[in-house]
Amino acid sequence: MKLLPLSENLFYLPHEAERDRPLLGYVRGTRLALAVDAGYSAAHADAFAAALRAQNLPPPDLTLLTHWHLDHSLGLSHIHGLSLATKAACAALEALAVQARDPGWFAARRRDDPFFALEYREAASAPRVRAADIAFDGPLRLDLGGVAAEIFPLPSPHSADSAALFLPGESALFLGDAPSVDFSDPGQATEENLEALIAALQRFPPCTCLLSHCAPLPLSELLDYLRTEARQALKTR
Ligand SMILES: [Zn+2]
Repeated sequence: MKLLPLSENLFYLPHEAERDRPLLGYVRGTRLALAVDAGYSAAHADAFAAALRAQNLPPPDLTLLTHWHLDHSLGLSHIHGLSLATKAACAALEALAVQARDPGWFAARRRDDPFFALEYREAASAPRVRAADIAFDGPLRLDLGGVAAEIFPLPSPHSADSAALFLPGESALFLGDAPSVDFSDPGQATEENLEALIAALQRFPPCTCLLSHCAPLPLSELLDYLRTEARQALKTR
């Protein structure tokens, strides 16, 4: 899989539906490079590193986790540089690390989740689960060297620990799975959380949204979807 450019500084490795691998993002300034999400596994993180090398891009100095879910976080032990995530994501990963030390955890995941089974079909042992190096619970503004990166917690009907990345100079907004109303956490998939997300997204200028499991789309299109299909899905569940 090849890295695709969105601008001179911004790239992404597309999502892969077969294994439910999420899109991985990459933005570089003159001093620092920032990646979005660590990937599903060591193999996924290594594929991302190889795709960067293939285009002569330096490895990331920082990796932002959009939320704790396994397909976004289990590559953490294999990334280059430091990682950051919301405090809630770090707490969820610390709890998961305890669960994953149970010898039955890996076998149960492989049995119950066909995507996980496929991602880890050649793995001899369970992945090492760890939290991010840096935990935050408010907005962060990073200067990557001529490229501004705005990181902030985001309300979401998908996962309570969601974070987003806005790149004003690139007109790009990474949202992870935050707009998804797939009921992976039924307590979180509420109309209230969806409305809070819509209100948060309405404050952004026109830009390209990068969601983890689909192709990039304009913010206006995403808002249309959230105001119609997503609202309907939550009303009729
Ligand atoms: Zn998710």
